[in-house]
Amino acid sequence: MKTGIITTDTYLNHDTGQDHPERAERVTVVIEHLKKLKSKNLVWKKPTKFDLKYLQLAHDNNYLKSVNDSFPREGVHFLNGDTILSPGSKEATIDAVGSIITAIDGVMKKNFRNAFCAVRPPGHHAEKKKAMGFCVYNNVAVGAYYLLEKYCLSKVAIIDFDVHHGNGTQNIFYNNENVLYISTHQYPYYPGSGAANEKGIKDNVLNIPLAAGTRTHEFLNAYDRVFKKLKNFNPEFILLSAGFDAHKDDPLAQINLESNDYYTLTKRIMTLSKELCEEKLVSILEGGYNLKALQESVNYHVKSLME
Ligand SMILES: [Zn+2]
Repeated sequence: MKTGIITTDTYLNHDTGQDHPERAERVTVVIEHLKKLKSKNLVWKKPTKFDLKYLQLAHDNNYLKSVNDSFPREGVHFLNGDTILSPGSKEATIDAVGSIITAIDGVMKKNFRNAFCAVRPPGHHAEKKKAMGFCVYNNVAVGAYYLLEKYCLSKVAIIDFDVHHGNGTQNIFYNNENVLYISTHQYPYYPGSGAANEKGIKDNVLNIPLAAGTRTHEFLNAYDRVFKKLKNFNPEFILLSAGFDAHKDDPLAQINLESNDYYTLTKRIMTLSKELCEEKLVSILEGGYNLKALQESVNYHVKSLME
């Protein structure tokens, strides 16, 4: 079986300016490396257009309107201190969302077994009414709503292994029993949320805070709790908020994973997805800011997805 890689070159035109950690090269190094594999098990797809009503399920209409009015004709516009829009961001942000929609369609139609979306900007910090932490639209949240609405699923799980807590995804689904949100993240740390006692109105949120300095063994051990929660929820589909900034070389955080830990982690998630939901799984890129570490880590992640 095959793994879909969903990407397009419009991410290049989302220009965050000089010295911004969330820069175009992040996706470029990932794609270049995956292309070099020349694997017959990778199916390359571009994001398709999608009905904007799915964006409206995850975000408030006034927020969407204000973002839409903020794309500059030239130069840059700051949605906040670190979330920046350029003229090309309009297409890039929509294509990032479109990628997860395309990936989901491909898995549901069995064009490929699972998929990885190589996109930017990331999404998991974007709340229902607020852009935050380089994120404009919450890509993974739109994907979850798409599964609930278009495919009439009633149980979608999101596992977020980015080193930062996905405050946006938690905010959007905090009272939604159809979506289980699980996050492992450095804590206390940016964005401030993600304490263990934030459990969702329907007990549909599991936060596993990890201290700065956490190493492989402790990190992977934390996933025993993730898998227990996941089994109890019994999802029909698993989405991964795949950030690779828990790597030891990442400049934005202090968790100490090695590149090949993402192989082990993905393998364990895959094994469980086989047991629970016929392997239906889509992964989307969130953070990861050391280019070499990101390239290696994604390589291990996708290697595991392909097996
Ligand atoms: Zn992150």
